[in-house]
Amino acid sequence: GLAEEPISRANSKPVAMEGSSPFSGSRKEESSLSIIIVGASGDLASQKIFPALFALFYEDCLPENATGFGYARSKMTDEELRNMISQTLTCRIDKRENCGDKMDEFLKRCFYHFGEYNSEEHFARLDCKLKEKEGGRSSFRLFYLSIPPNIFVDVVRCASTSASSKNGWTRVIVEKPFGHNLHLFLIASYFDNYGIIHDIMQNHLLQILALFAMETPVSLDAEDIRNEKVKVLRSMRLLQLEDVMVGQYKGHSKGGRTYPGYTDDPSVPNDSLTPTIAAASLFIDNARWDGVPFLMRAGKALHTKRLLVLRVQPDEAIYLKINNKVPGLGMRLDRSDLNLLYKARSDQSRYPKEIPDAYERLLLDAIEGERRLFIRSDELDAAWSLFTPLLKELEEKKIAPELYPYGSRGPVGVHYLAAKHNVRWG
Ligand code: NDP
Repeated sequence: GLAEEPISRANSKPVAMEGSSPFSGSRKEESSLSIIIVGASGDLASQKIFPALFALFYEDCLPENATGFGYARSKMTDEELRNMISQTLTCRIDKRENCGDKMDEFLKRCFYHFGEYNSEEHFARLDCKLKEKEGGRSSFRLFYLSIPPNIFVDVVRCASTSASSKNGWTRVIVEKPFGHNLHLFLIASYFDNYGIIHDIMQNHLLQILALFAMETPVSLDAEDIRNEKVKVLRSMRLLQLEDVMVGQYKGHSKGGRTYPGYTDDPSVPNDSLTPTIAAASLFIDNARWDGVPFLMRAGKALHTKRLLVLRVQPDEAIYLKINNKVPGLGMRLDRSDLNLLYKARSDQSRYPKEIPDAYERLLLDAIEGERRLFIRSDELDAAWSLFTPLLKELEEKKIAPELYPYGSRGPVGVHYLAAKHNVRWG
């Protein structure tokens, strides 16, 4: 999960965010792009961000004068950084012969600078190094904050005062502190502060709902899409307690195996009321969707039976699980998937063989100023206003989640909520 936050641009000239990129045409020799990965000593930087940068470099998607800068407190030389990241670079698109050469070329453009996260002086030193590489060209700087969220503000302040571009743009990518992999799922102390409503519903599911229910935008331009999303979000009825059901999984034993409950995790308080499942019915008060309930559910530790699946990542796919009669004279049924697995599509004129990794898309969009996939601040406001009163009420009234066994279909309340609208969950 990722979010965008603009850095103060007090000294920066406004630069075309849409349309012509400063890295195209005759201007490209005059511009230089620096991507500064703050927290470069961490896992995410070497596992995801540098490999994504390399993939863009390999595909010639980065401008000519692009450099990668690692910044963190750990002491490292440029060479040590290069050794570290060279372990995770791959030529995943294809194994063309020049892969090794491309890697060497890319590594030569990677540098490291160590410093504290709250020191304007250390960022000023970084600024000197950046200027050295920029060689007097217009400077475009993209800061990627791959650090724990409690130091975001310090870094943005220091970067803004001491290391922002003076004649181009400065942009910041903020890594959302929860996400898409098991490793982060296991940061259970984080999850306990927020729960499934913040973690999945208020952002991911609401985004999908807004995209689904919005009116057709005037064009596919970012602002047109975002205008429609904001309109539909603002038409949504405020969530009431009776529209929502929350649950939490408990431990149980089955077939000689014991499955732990949510509060059995040592980092979770025994009396935690954090929901691990939530279901909600939402209404959109506009002419198109008048009276139509939208049911949303997100949960952990559920059984895996699903019907229509829209999988955003990994392995982007839309599939429908069906019971299919096995061809032939018999009457045997078989469970199969009717699927659109993007990577399995052979029609390469319409579906490219390789789907870029989410980090490649993110970096490229941030570099090109393509905002279509970023949430605009009024959209964020609308999404939060929808859920905040409910979250407050859940907390103030200390609403106890209904317990459900690990690996089950979830608590009965979730099914009652759907039944109120004559719907059954898959
Ligand atoms: P790390 O915990 O490895 O943090 C990255 C770097 O930040 C560390 O190498 C360290 O660098 C510095 N750092 C760590 N803790 C602190 C602290 N308490 N105070 C100051 N500096 C600190 O995280 P990851 O690299 O795994 O992830 C980066 C960020 O992205 C995290 O916030 C994470 O929650 C989020 N994230 C991670 C994903 C992943 O798959 N790993 C996916 C999605 C989000 P140094 O000591 O050298 O300064």
